[in-house]
Amino acid sequence: MNKLFAVIGLGRFGMSITEELNRMGYEVLAMDTDEDKVNIAVDLATHAVRADAMDEQVLKSLGIRNFDVVIVAIGQNIQANILTSIMLKEMGVKTVGAKAQNHLHGKVLEKVGVDIIVYPERDMGVKMARSLVSQNIMELIDLSPDYSIIEFAAPASFSGRSILELDVRRQMGVNILAIKRPGGIIMSPGAEQMINERDILVVVGRNDQLRLLGRLP
Ligand code: ATP
Ligand code: ATP
Ligand code: CA
Repeated sequence: MNKLFAVIGLGRFGMSITEELNRMGYEVLAMDTDEDKVNIAVDLATHAVRADAMDEQVLKSLGIRNFDVVIVAIGQNIQANILTSIMLKEMGVKTVGAKAQNHLHGKVLEKVGVDIIVYPERDMGVKMARSLVSQNIMELIDLSPDYSIIEFAAPASFSGRSILELDVRRQMGVNILAIKRPGGIIMSPGAEQMINERDILVVVGRNDQLRLLGRLP
């Protein structure tokens, strides 16, 4: 079952969504009012159309309600972003995703019934700030307010020792989900698994534990 996607607004954000979905083999309809953007998207999308998403007739004639997911990636023009989102929900699009410019904009999108609201600039800023102050953190996923999955370089003191020896779960209060190393990835490592220099550990743990370990700010 191949999902159908549409991306409205082909700035850097919308264009990269389009490109990635296309790379993963999905059908994507790309739309923008700007002809230059549409011309770039021709090579990245299944269909690229020059159209104004605020024109209800246009959305209808494209059969937009038959798409599984429609992403509103319009940026500066908050009005166009909100109006397009409302129309898509009213037309019955199952999943609408939209990019919000700020907290208030996000609140409005929430009220409109937008299913996925993202704040790319804010989130990348948070991510960058964290990576600047936390030594060696490469990736961080918030699972809940209390738990995270983080990726960091194994400390030098770990190398040449097994997980059992290090007694990671008890000593650090975290679980190693995977070990990434140049040769590949070791999933769900057992207690006898040795840690090498240059290993990257993917661990899950409570945020307070990770903070104690200096792994979370
Ligand atoms: P970026 O993703 O690069 O950060 P941005 O947040 O600065 O972009 P804009 O450039 O304002 O966002 O908007 C993204 C795209 O949305 C632009 O290419 C613009 O032409 C397009 N766009 C704006 N309004 C509409 C509309 N009503 N219908 C279709 N596309 C639109
Ligand atoms: P116990 O865990 O009570 O010592 P066990 O028989 O369950 O007994 P093992 O599963 O053999 O013990 O593992 C011994 C120790 O190795 C664990 O207590 C834990 O500290 C650590 N350990 C094993 N696997 C992992 C892992 N994937 N991530 C973190 N620590 C691990
Ligand atoms: Ca932007």
